[in-house]
Amino acid sequence: MTTTTDLRPPRTTRRTPRRLGLGVLALLVAGCAGLVHGLAHDPGHVTDGAHPSPAEPGPPGTATGLHPELERRFLAAQQAAAADDVVLTLTSGLRTAAEQQELVDEAVARYGVPEAYRWVLPPEQSAHVQGLAVDVGPTEGAYWLQQHGPDLGLCPTYANEVWHFELLPEGATACPEPRPDSSWAW
Ligand SMILES: [Zn+2]
Repeated sequence: MTTTTDLRPPRTTRRTPRRLGLGVLALLVAGCAGLVHGLAHDPGHVTDGAHPSPAEPGPPGTATGLHPELERRFLAAQQAAAADDVVLTLTSGLRTAAEQQELVDEAVARYGVPEAYRWVLPPEQSAHVQGLAVDVGPTEGAYWLQQHGPDLGLCPTYANEVWHFELLPEGATACPEPRPDSSWAW
């Protein structure tokens, strides 16, 4: 017999997983991805103890479908970029396995094997399918995030993809050295 009672403390207000706000709209100045309109926006800074848990995909409910910590950090980065007069947009976030497979098929058709494998991961290896990766744009925004992402908990993970970022690993204080490309997974 199971006794899976929800032991949520009665008076805690520590975490509000789905706080929707409108403040973020002010950040979405030009050419922004429609995906992120109307998202929750935490005006505070990254707090200690807010380490991501990549083993636990985010609950459904974030506007992007991304892991909530990744969504939060991306929005914080977008705000910081805007303060530098740099536009930072989300060009690709969560993908279904079928969508990822389409990208694989397209890359193989276009570049052939093994070159395609340097640019795209199989669905079962892709952090995008787990809601744990973001591709950002435009080019200036991607380079801005290359420079500032590590301080905001967003790590470039492939040296050949300046636009692709994942969460700073749990417990890490600095981003790991990026892999040269995605060919390790094949
Ligand atoms: Zn990517």
